[in-house]
Amino acid sequence: MSTPPTFLGLPAYAPRGVGQLRQDGPFPAAARTALADTQLRRNIGHATQTIRAKRDRVVGEVPDWEELRVAGQQVKAATMARLDEHLERLEREVTARGGVVHWARDANDANAIVTRLVRDTGETEVVKVKSMVTQEIGLNEALADAGIEAYETDLAELIVQLGHDKPSHILVPAIHRNRAEIREIFLRGMPDVPAGLTDDPRQLAMAARAHLRQKFLTAKVAVSGANFAVAATGTLLVVESEGNGRMCLTLPETLITVMGIEKVVPTWRDLEVFLQLLPRSSTGERMNPYTSAWTGVHTTPDGVIDGPRHFHLVLLDNGRAATLADEVGREVLHCIKCSACMNVCPVYERTGGHAYGSVYPGPIGAVLSPQLTGVEDNSSLPYASSLCGACFDACPVRIDIPALLVHLRGKHVEQRRAASRVPTPEAVAMAAASWVMSDPDRFARAERASRLGRLVARRGKLRSLPPPLSAWTSSRDAPVPPAETFREWWAWTRGASS
Ligand code: SF4
Repeated sequence: MSTPPTFLGLPAYAPRGVGQLRQDGPFPAAARTALADTQLRRNIGHATQTIRAKRDRVVGEVPDWEELRVAGQQVKAATMARLDEHLERLEREVTARGGVVHWARDANDANAIVTRLVRDTGETEVVKVKSMVTQEIGLNEALADAGIEAYETDLAELIVQLGHDKPSHILVPAIHRNRAEIREIFLRGMPDVPAGLTDDPRQLAMAARAHLRQKFLTAKVAVSGANFAVAATGTLLVVESEGNGRMCLTLPETLITVMGIEKVVPTWRDLEVFLQLLPRSSTGERMNPYTSAWTGVHTTPDGVIDGPRHFHLVLLDNGRAATLADEVGREVLHCIKCSACMNVCPVYERTGGHAYGSVYPGPIGAVLSPQLTGVEDNSSLPYASSLCGACFDACPVRIDIPALLVHLRGKHVEQRRAASRVPTPEAVAMAAASWVMSDPDRFARAERASRLGRLVARRGKLRSLPPPLSAWTSSRDAPVPPAETFREWWAWTRGASS
């Protein structure tokens, strides 16, 4: 076993090798490009509306949905308060049942551990269960650098991998693709696909099935993430819809699971709450079609090993301990990655996931990625929201995403202020507004002066103002100041009535 969990003593260092988390470019520029792509907007709008309607239907069937949400929130808060104890318990239980636990401080650590474990088997190929955390650390790229090929087995992840693309949604990574595009990708990327393949969903699924079956039957090593880990028994769980994950979890000789440290739950009673919340919130199903659970290495009463002979669990920090140290920001660690917040977000629906430039897109990405990397590395993401609150209403564990967004914006402003003595134009404008508003006479003079705007108004609108106010009028009109100020109206009406 490698290094013990000393990093849980908090606080942290900046994570090294953040993999796919670092934002490629500021959100506004990337969003503008995405907004110009009408096909993308159509694909995403259609998909999110469909998932939303399904989710609303099945959530409406549960009379105690709000109580369940509160229970989920409370279990998560209680677990995070004693996370170190639960993780150490998990390690003991996994080890007692024949598994090996490894602790990874960051992406580089985790990638090095997994690469070494695969190399030790002598294999050069692995099959993968859909996993956000391995994308977060850039595992496929790290394995490729070491000459090891990783095959995604989730259908949507396969589409993304064959298309040399990036995922744009947590649950439906290829949500930005339509059937015709998927057919093209299969024809280009699958050597064994029938030439007459159409874009009929069944045909596409059968082509993927035949392609993957070959991988399942030959792979000796599998890599997975985990949706949950039950500390009391050392049991790991993956929930999925296709059954491909279960093939990876049972057929290969070696199973390596990479799991963020926040995924642990203390007991099976706690897990019960999330197994009700997750499927309804994510796929709009009453329960997940496949819920796979495994505990170490399993031997039957006849002494036969049932499933993988070797099991390794890599527990990943990568900025989570630092997030836990933030009393407000730590709530983000309650996330069960259902993606409901994405499907209701008006910003995500119009820009899609790529604009966020991070493996975690949408509202959850806007609050998770900046905390895992440090706010400076993803500083435009907390602003990628209208703060409408739809994400909080949809979140099955009641994460107050709007409050976290405001908290992170505050942190970003503080960091910028500390880093530079030169104030930003916004800070200058706010200081000037504060100076004007703190004195009644100054404010009255400013009100009267604002009437000059009436001279340049056209058809009741101010369409262009000089800098820095041009930042506002570059994308929207400003209202024309009224002919009479409130004070003048007040003095006039009071005078009239007395
Ligand atoms: S923040 Fe809430 S709604 Fe969004 S993915 Fe996480 S659990 Fe789901």
